[in-house]
Amino acid sequence: MITGYGVLVMKAQYFIRSYSNNPHISNKAVALTFDDGPNEHTVEILKILERYHAKGTFFCIGKQIKEHPEIFKQIIEKGHLVGNHTYGHSKYIDLYGVNRFVNEIRKTDQIIKEFSGKSTLLFRPPYGITNPTVAKALKITKHKVIGWNRRSFDTTIPSESVIFKKITSNLKNGDVILLHDTKKITAAVLEQLLLFLQQNNVTTVMIDELFSIQAYE
Ligand SMILES: [Zn+2]
Repeated sequence: MITGYGVLVMKAQYFIRSYSNNPHISNKAVALTFDDGPNEHTVEILKILERYHAKGTFFCIGKQIKEHPEIFKQIIEKGHLVGNHTYGHSKYIDLYGVNRFVNEIRKTDQIIKEFSGKSTLLFRPPYGITNPTVAKALKITKHKVIGWNRRSFDTTIPSESVIFKKITSNLKNGDVILLHDTKKITAAVLEQLLLFLQQNNVTTVMIDELFSIQAYE
């Protein structure tokens, strides 16, 4: 049975099915997801996760992996999951045609494979964009689209306490939390968040466990 199978509705009857949360998960758990890395802040994030025995899912940008292959390998070695977040994460990616978008995904798949030996089945679109092009591209590449249902606003809000509240107020079982391993502030908030989860007996699960899906081919 598939639960928490959300649908991002788009105009012209195109749609992308995406996994955004799973309130029916049997254990008390949430999923931490980290986008846009790897970069220098990823190292600190990995240390904090390890300290709390927590696991996350990292949606990596292809060109960032090429820039920081050693950090990328650390993500894998520490037992976290990795997914595809395009090669360039362009601001104009919503204007790309299908072939160009497919190329963004495939190029990143290859880089992930090169540095980890894994063929990831997970994809998260930059900025959460959903348009007919993305829908068509994903039909071709056949990735599972992983969304989120809880934004931290860690890239836009400069206050640790406000970000912490955005994440934790009314946090529910099976929520998928969107974070970024590109920001110093995220590491600071993560430590508080993991303490909060520990105090409330909430564990962290990775995306494959949360949705009972396969992450790698
Ligand atoms: Zn992103």
